[in-house]
Amino acid sequence: KIELRAIQKSFGSLEALKPFSLTIPSGTFVSLLGPSGCGKTTLLRIIAGLEEADSGTIKMNDQIIYSNEKNIHLPPQKRGIGMVFQDFALWPHMTVFENVAYSLKATGKKKGLREKVDQALENVQLGDYRERYPHQLSGGQQQRVAIARAIANDPAVILMDEPLSALDATLRDEMRILLQSLVKRLNMTAIYVTHDQNEAMSMSDYVVVMNAGTLLQEGTPEDIYRYPQTKEVAAFIGKGT
Ligand code: ATP
Repeated sequence: KIELRAIQKSFGSLEALKPFSLTIPSGTFVSLLGPSGCGKTTLLRIIAGLEEADSGTIKMNDQIIYSNEKNIHLPPQKRGIGMVFQDFALWPHMTVFENVAYSLKATGKKKGLREKVDQALENVQLGDYRERYPHQLSGGQQQRVAIARAIANDPAVILMDEPLSALDATLRDEMRILLQSLVKRLNMTAIYVTHDQNEAMSMSDYVVVMNAGTLLQEGTPEDIYRYPQTKEVAAFIGKGT
């Protein structure tokens, strides 16, 4: 379970996140849906520990991993979280194997390294691509390497920031299915950032609609679609008049 309590973040005079609270049960696939600039990436980075909030509390399975007040700031590599970025962020001078292994080494887990990397690559169906370099792979394959890197350490939580937006439409459909089934098979909790309502509705157990640093509505895809509570939500999911 992940609990966000009153997370606040400003950049200068801009309030990127107003007190933002959300609880995500373990094993849930949640999408954060909202227009560009509404604070989705900022929230993800704060959960990962890549960005510091100004105030608020984050708990994972009842353990506080971040609290400004209590001066608790668990570093990213200790949070049990994997992250996938929009631009893949692979090292160009490292092979597929090395890219995945590198992140494991960074967390200090050297035991069973080869097996873990191989298992992660098998999980994204890239077992035969170990020795290739990123430029020798298609965009979809590169993103699968990035996914393997994120899951290699067996994280309880995977955070994904528009992971499919750089891919063409056919590939996106394929990758949606791969991601969804991977998250379920490995029993992870997933937080998936997107501004694409179809993607959010088709992939998630739960959708959180955001705008301007606030939570507008949360619920199952069906709830949100059938009972949008505000005009903004209705407009955003394509039901506006
Ligand atoms: P997108 O879908 O375009 O990535 P988003 O919903 O993820 O948008 P964020 O990237 O979280 O939005 O940004 C929220 C707001 O905070 C934006 O107005 C952005 O310009 C601002 N912002 C984000 N990071 C910084 C930063 N490091 N310095 C200053 N402003 C920032």
